[in-house]
Amino acid sequence: MQPIQSFYTQLGSPKNIIITSHQKPDGDAMGSSLGLLHFLKLLGHTVTYISPTNWADFLEWMPGCKDVINFEKNKEHCRELVNAADIIFCLDFNILHRVKHFEPVIRHSKAIKVLIDHHELPETSAFDYGISLTTKSSTCEMVFDFIVDSGHDHLINLDIATCLYTGVMTDTGSFRFPSTTASVHRMVARLKETGLQHSPIHDNMFDNFLETRLRFMGNAFLHRMEVLYQYNTVVMSIPKRDIIKYDIKTGDTEGLVNWLLTIRGIKLAAIVIDREEERKWSFRSKGNFDVNIFARLHFEGGGHKNAAGGRSSESIEATTKKFHEVIQQYEKELN
Ligand code: 5GP
Ligand code: MN
Repeated sequence: MQPIQSFYTQLGSPKNIIITSHQKPDGDAMGSSLGLLHFLKLLGHTVTYISPTNWADFLEWMPGCKDVINFEKNKEHCRELVNAADIIFCLDFNILHRVKHFEPVIRHSKAIKVLIDHHELPETSAFDYGISLTTKSSTCEMVFDFIVDSGHDHLINLDIATCLYTGVMTDTGSFRFPSTTASVHRMVARLKETGLQHSPIHDNMFDNFLETRLRFMGNAFLHRMEVLYQYNTVVMSIPKRDIIKYDIKTGDTEGLVNWLLTIRGIKLAAIVIDREEERKWSFRSKGNFDVNIFARLHFEGGGHKNAAGGRSSESIEATTKKFHEVIQQYEKELN
């Protein structure tokens, strides 16, 4: 993987460009992809964002979202688009298997592949050019740097600003995580200069759910949560019947794991949800406990030091039991 700076000259003439991000894109994956899409279109390129899967309803308001193509619903069309592509941007993921069933299509494409990402241990051999910085708050911040460093600061408009703000806001926990550097605040100041209204973005992202989601969460806190004070850990295990009863959709459970960390003294929070094809884990930590390593070692996952995900092909009961077993070896570290 060559440095991204050596790629800039490729933007000089019109190209067919595909952007993709990790499956079930969150605010940062969707925001960075659409922010980059609006920028590349201004440069005269033909650009399509293909999401490997569906996404949460609370992202639908974003400028450009209605034109995003879901690979799982349009496989043949997406294969044709990738075949015709000169360049593929891969945003907000480190390893190609995070695009799920889209992986072989991307991997075998002859297009130039460019990575922009902030997760640990990128699969560098899969990309021609790229930048991977775990110190960055978000992929949106990195797309902002990409636009500015390639000499196009003057092109940043309201659509680009709206998309990039959304991702940096979600990935920094609304500007509270340690990754929120002075550069992040300077970037937001620059985005505000385009006329960006940030309050409606927060409303769209956080205050636009159905009653059933809140009742689902109430039930989860009451009946699905265990506090393991011995390990300064909270674990929540959501069975499929809850998902069905409260009609829980993609995105409705996002952020739930963070609530577990609000209990005084808690250093590790874990949630497992019984999804259609797999049991999906989310891990969050405070301080030095590295959930990226924890997820890698025990739950087929990874991510960042304080936020990571994983999965299990076992039953919800079995994988929850496994969590209770493996946590025992971390008693010292968590105290
Ligand atoms: P979440 O718990 O919100 O799904 O994910 C937390 C963080 O870990 C996000 O940055 C996400 O991209 C990353 N992540 C989630 N699942 C995986 C995984 O299976 N592998 C890797 N490498 N990262 C993951
Ligand atoms: Mn991200």
